[in-house]
Parts: sequence; C-alpha cells; structure tokens
Amino acid sequence: APGRVVVVGGGFGGATAARILQRAGLTVTLVEPAETYWACPFSNEVIAGLRPMSAQAFGYEDLRASGVTIARTSAEAVDGAARQVRLADGRTLDYDRLILSPGIALRFDALPGYDEAASQAMPHAWKAGAQTERLARQLAAMPEGGTVVLSVPGNPYRCPPGPYERASLIAYYLKTRKPRAKLIVLDAKDTFSKQKLFEQAWTHLYPDVLEYVPLAAGGQVASVDSRAMSVATDFATHKADVACIIPPQRAAPIATAAGVADRSGWCPIDPVSFESRLVPRIHVIGDAAIAGAMPKSAFAANAQGKVCAEAVIDLLAERKPAAPKLVNTCYSLVAPGYGISVAGVYHPANGVLADVEGAGGTSPLDAGGEVRRQEAAYAEDWYRTITAAVFG
Ligand code: FAD
Repeated sequence: APGRVVVVGGGFGGATAARILQRAGLTVTLVEPAETYWACPFSNEVIAGLRPMSAQAFGYEDLRASGVTIARTSAEAVDGAARQVRLADGRTLDYDRLILSPGIALRFDALPGYDEAASQAMPHAWKAGAQTERLARQLAAMPEGGTVVLSVPGNPYRCPPGPYERASLIAYYLKTRKPRAKLIVLDAKDTFSKQKLFEQAWTHLYPDVLEYVPLAAGGQVASVDSRAMSVATDFATHKADVACIIPPQRAAPIATAAGVADRSGWCPIDPVSFESRLVPRIHVIGDAAIAGAMPKSAFAANAQGKVCAEAVIDLLAERKPAAPKLVNTCYSLVAPGYGISVAGVYHPANGVLADVEGAGGTSPLDAGGEVRRQEAAYAEDWYRTITAAVFG
C-alpha cells in the first residue's frame, strides 16, 4: 500500500504531523534545514528581558528517535505531477502525499525602505532566533528617555495578538527599566484581537508610556529609513531609537515553488483534509494555509497537524476523512503575571473553516488580578505542554 509521506517544515505544524504519521506506521521524512527550532510563543518575553532565549530552543532528537527520518536540508522544488520533492542537498524524495508546513516569508517588497538589510537596523523579530536577540539587545542599549516605534501590518499575518503582546511587554520594560522612554505603536488597521482587553490593560498599566495610533489616526506606515532611523506615515515622521517593523507576510517560498499559493501569497485548502485547492496530494497546514476563521498560531498549526495527519492516513487507506472540529486558544501576556486569552472552535462550513457559533470567547473584561494571574499561569502551562507534545 502507498505510505510514503514527506513533510516539509519542522515547526509546530510539520513536527506534529510527522509524529502522528510515523506512529501510524507510515514512512515519514521530515525536511527541515535547522538543527534548532526557535519557538516564537513567549519570544516577546525574551525581548522584554523576562526570559532567557534558551527557553525558546527545541531540537529534533526525540522525533528522530521515534523513527521519523529527518532530512537536514531545505526543499527547493516540488513536482506535483511526478510527486517528487527536490532537496537543496541534491536528493529527490518521492511521495504519495506531501504536507507543507513551511510557515511565513516576510515581504521585503511591501514597505518602501524595508528590506532584509534594513531589518538588521530595524528588526522584525517575527521569526524567532537572531532577530529576537537583536531587538532585545537594542532595547537594552537604548538611551534613557528614548523612543521605540513598533509598526503592525494589516491582516492576515502570523499571530494576530502577537504585536499587541509585544507592545505591552516593551511598555513594561520601559516603565520598569527606562523611565521617561516612550513606545509609539503604529497600526495599519483599526481593530485587532483582544482589543478591549489590551486597551484596558494599557490604560491601567502604561498610560504614560504607550501611545497607540490606529489606521484612522494615521497609523499606517508608508515608508521607513533605516539609516535615519525614521518611520513615516502619511501624516508624520517618527524618529526612533529602536524601531521594530513587522512587515506584511506571505507563505514561505516553497509554497509558491510548489504551485499551492494563490495570488494572495497564501495557500487555499480543503477544510476537511487540508489538501491544496490547487495541486492534488499536497496538503498545507499552519501559517502558510488559508484556514478561514482560524488564526495563524502555533496552537492552530498543532491542531491542523493532527487533523491533516489523520486525513492523510485515511486517504492513503482509501477512506474518506471525517469532518473535523478544531480548537484554538491564544494567550497574551500584558505584564508578568497578567494574562489574557481568546479561544475559538472551528468546523468546515461552505468550503471554509468557519467559527462554531457561540463557542469560544475572550477573557472577561473586568476581571480581578487573580483571574489575570491564573491566565498567565495557564499560558506557561500551555507552552510547556505543546512544546513537549511537538518536540518531545
Ligand atoms: P513555523 O513554526 O514557522 O515552522 C516552519 C518551519 O519550516 C521552520 O522550521 C522552517 O525552517 C521550515 N521551512 C521553511 N521553508 C522550508 C523549506 N523550503 N524546506 C524545509 N523546511 C522549511 N502562537 C501561539 O499559538 N501562541 C502564542 O503565544 C504565539 N506567540 C507568538 C509570538 C510571536 C512574537 C510570533 C512571531 C508568533 C507567535 N505565535 C504564537 C505564532 C506561531 O509562532 C506560529 O503560528 C507557528 O510557528 C506556525 O507554525 P508553522 O508550522 O506554520 O510554521
């Protein structure tokens, strides 16, 4: 029976799928160039000096020990008709089903002045690793009374509440370590995830530190100048001591190379099996996929990895996959010991992943400190649990 599955990308989505497929007795090759996976969840705490970078590092020893073959290289091309993946090390892998979980690419063509070179002076830190540490160092070295500018893209992008968690924790850092410093958040939209909860916390905790500028007030960044360290909107030019620019994004390049990304830059999928709408026998999960109402989160990538792996097991056995229900929860910290969350339940409806009406919701708005403390603890527990489940 056909049972060769190739998984591209060893992040939250791909590593999850590879483990389940291997357990089911299929022959699984996971293609991932990095020896160390740097996890993004909780990396905002590293930036604010609240956590060591080592707490973000995970490896593939456990997956390898459990029988998954790891190809430590990247996938360069996919021939969907021949069902082959070409690797950067020159090898070619045949597959019966291919799962892509390659994450995002930062669009260095989308914001005038912001290219890869500019991201050294103005880090995005939207892929964890060297960029995270760079932004942390810049904040630590910032002069007293300095200005931090944080720019947030329009939808869709990886981790909808992530920029606002980052804003909160940078504000915390400034308040406690750099008195008189300011944070200006420039947003390309007017509404965002957990907005009321964030805004309530900012009013209480950071009234003199954090200035939030939505689209309607001129928050859309038009260009940046990484030499002058300035960030321009149509209304004003902000001089920054530290600038974190989170640019627009798209699916990682292998999605385009495989022909599974559409003109939006993201990958349309069938909501039951996560099979590409564009190329048969290729499945796309995680941030790269257009997953309807589901956000681009590690929690979602993990849930999709499970559902997609089960669907691939069914399809290879010529069974029809059952319609899934998927869950997501995104925690954010607005200060140490102050957590908030949003949760949702999703199911296939009218060809997309839609919200299950009435399920899910956010933390209560006017809760006391004990509720916030508990949610901060749940967030820590979630991180420990999911990283152990995915990486061992
Ligand atoms: P990734 O985790 O990015 O993994 C993709 C992998 O594919 C990478 O290891 C990459 O090396 C590999 N790859 C790419 N191209 C190729 C190729 N051609 N060949 C081989 N391998 C390739 N989510 C939460 O649920 N909770 C949070 O609290 C949270 N906080 C976040 C905070 C920040 C600051 C950020 C930026 C994100 C946060 N996220 C959070 C989002 C989460 O990190 C992503 O949604 C998640 O990592 C997506 O998983 P993925 O498998 O799609 O992609």
